[in-house]
Amino acid sequence: MTSDDLQRPLEGVVGGKTAKVLAKSFGMATVNDLLRHYPRRYAQRGELTDLSTLTDGESVTVVAEIESVTVRPMKQRRGSIVEVVVTDGKGRLSVTFFNQAWREREMRAGRSGLFSGQVSSFRNKRQLSHPQFLLFPEGVDDDPEAIAAFAGALIPVYPATGSLTSWQIAGAVRMVLDTLGEVADPIPEQVRVTEGLADLGRALRLIHRPVDFAEVELARARLKFEEAFVLQVVLAQRRQQMAHLTATSRSVLDGPMLTAFDKRLPFVLTAGQNSVGAEIEKDLAGTHPMHRLLQGDVGSGKTIVALRAMLSVVDAGGQAALLAPTEVLAGQHYRSIRTLLGPLAERGRLGGANDGTRVALLTGSQRTAQRRVELLDVITGDAGIVVGTHALIQDTVEFRDLALVVVDEQHRFGVEQRAALAAKARDGTRPHVLVMTATPIPRTVAMTVFGDLDISTLSELPAGRTPIATHVISTREQPGHLIRAWERVKEEAAQNHRVFVVCPRIGGEGIDGKSIGGESREDEVGDDPSETSIASVLTVAQSLALDLPDLRVEMLHGRMSGDAKEDVMTRFADTARSDGIDVLVATTVIEVGVDVPDANTMIILDADRFGISQLHQLRGRVGRGVLPGLCLLVTDADAGSPSRERLLAVASTTDGFELSQLDLEMRREGDVLSSVQSGRRSSLRLLEVVRDEDIIDRARTAAHAIVESDAELTSHLALKLAIGSLIADEQAEFLEKA
Ligand code: ADP
Ligand code: MG
Repeated sequence: MTSDDLQRPLEGVVGGKTAKVLAKSFGMATVNDLLRHYPRRYAQRGELTDLSTLTDGESVTVVAEIESVTVRPMKQRRGSIVEVVVTDGKGRLSVTFFNQAWREREMRAGRSGLFSGQVSSFRNKRQLSHPQFLLFPEGVDDDPEAIAAFAGALIPVYPATGSLTSWQIAGAVRMVLDTLGEVADPIPEQVRVTEGLADLGRALRLIHRPVDFAEVELARARLKFEEAFVLQVVLAQRRQQMAHLTATSRSVLDGPMLTAFDKRLPFVLTAGQNSVGAEIEKDLAGTHPMHRLLQGDVGSGKTIVALRAMLSVVDAGGQAALLAPTEVLAGQHYRSIRTLLGPLAERGRLGGANDGTRVALLTGSQRTAQRRVELLDVITGDAGIVVGTHALIQDTVEFRDLALVVVDEQHRFGVEQRAALAAKARDGTRPHVLVMTATPIPRTVAMTVFGDLDISTLSELPAGRTPIATHVISTREQPGHLIRAWERVKEEAAQNHRVFVVCPRIGGEGIDGKSIGGESREDEVGDDPSETSIASVLTVAQSLALDLPDLRVEMLHGRMSGDAKEDVMTRFADTARSDGIDVLVATTVIEVGVDVPDANTMIILDADRFGISQLHQLRGRVGRGVLPGLCLLVTDADAGSPSRERLLAVASTTDGFELSQLDLEMRREGDVLSSVQSGRRSSLRLLEVVRDEDIIDRARTAAHAIVESDAELTSHLALKLAIGSLIADEQAEFLEKA
């Protein structure tokens, strides 16, 4: 291997002390780690930072000029306070040092420099707490460190921490760059030449020590391309590995289960369901594993498509597993699949069809005895269809012949989990994999996250749906509307319709603050006592039970046991039962997938607490049957505020694609990726998946060419190394979240 300076440990280059702080603050170990810590922005000498843009709580580094310096003794104790007021010519910021009178000497009105700290307000005055500063050099006898730091016209401003300022990071970077020798470039030379990109060594120098913005651009272009390229190589490799894997072809013409099922269906399939079905059939007949993403808006009927695929493989003698992200959803799939299949799901039981199968359910909170029964059905193959949560992935679950894995609401799973289940096929073959998502994603995001998958889209909803009417209710401006809403709940319940009331919190802090089984979801807002003004399931359910004494009100949230959740969902879904439920007060556990056709009304309290996509998903729980749906978004957010605007956007359309685009535009870059896939975030620092379409396209083409000619990357060692660390980072990130 050629020598690569980037892999050197930091200690030897910047000294033990600095290396330690860098490791502690940012987890940096090598020269590469430090050089990949790019400046957040660049300050220009002589150009002051606009202080009016700062927001409270933010950690900032600003360029400002000293306006005044005052020293006064402390009142209670010995010692003095130095108060420095800095300005950008318009606004002011006060920076206070305690017991550091010596600072007064260097601080003089008219001098400027970098000031960093946390912005706060005190008696209507802006100030910096935990301040640190570095003044620009004035004369010859000034700090040589400062002179070196400001040699260039552009001053890099780094993401910093309390223990490490931006200019200390700049100092460490300078030491590294001064001694940087040969750098191994993950982008092969021929690609660099065609794309007109700077080599890595040059790009790193320019991003950290640019003379002008043209140099910054040059560096960024190259580094962005690299991020896109390395990721596309990983995806191209995965695709190629998959193409080399073998799967058993699962194709039977007019299989008995599927034929019988289609006859039973109470509706006709949409054109989209038919054509996607045909694509899947074709994949299943192949001898390489299918790897397909099915995207379709909430309510577009993905489950039927998946179920028909599962029945095909059962017809061909194999088994299918359906993986759901929550117990509620797994339980619902289990029940609805059994209902849809009717006698076809009762093989070996009284009244069951001869050529039918069985459906097994595996979840984490199942009792051991029950689990054993289900596991037996799975291992013998009696259960052709196995529904479950990640309990399905465990080692103890053995399939007789796993042919197809379907992952529902895939954004809640990582690549790892998909892979673990895929490893359960027989004899070194792989199962076919279908992943489904209700979050429509733009092409570039799909290319970045699912570049290893083929994509099918259901773009229409089944006919005959009545659109959901959505209204925003302001508790401040229209308190009467909320009262009217509860009246409406009574009217709906009187007609045996189901009502959801969604709250952002579970509540009950101090009473049962800890989890009692079940999987509490990360986005069920925790029980921070300062949030008690936010509607909680416990209190809302309690007061509704009092206010609506004739109605049957129950709760559903992540802290309930699996059995309790299951019981509530069953009673809510089945209107024929005498112990049914009229009003279900729930957290976002009902966000994904829940399908109760008789539910037609949803009231979301403190709706501004939820994101656009989340509200769209939640709303998708009503208006799924023939009943017209109504969704009320209740909020106390001010008219004209961003939160209120978001709610109005959700109320204005039910088009998931439109909302998802809007959502992405409003999100920060890092959140875009984590919203569609756990664990793909750390590797992208500069690339913006929604905006850098062109770069992603070109990187993808280049990546495919490389992988085609050198799949193992034996003649591209630096690239191979970059890929290894990308994969390691993603895994670490995923494990951290799991
Ligand atoms: P999602 O895509 O959100 O997972 P589902 O698969 O849960 O949607 O389907 C939503 C509802 O639409 C279900 O009640 C399902 O039975 C029904 N459905 C699915 N396909 C059709 C169709 N072609 N015609 C009418 N109703 C359908
Ligand atoms: Mg679904």
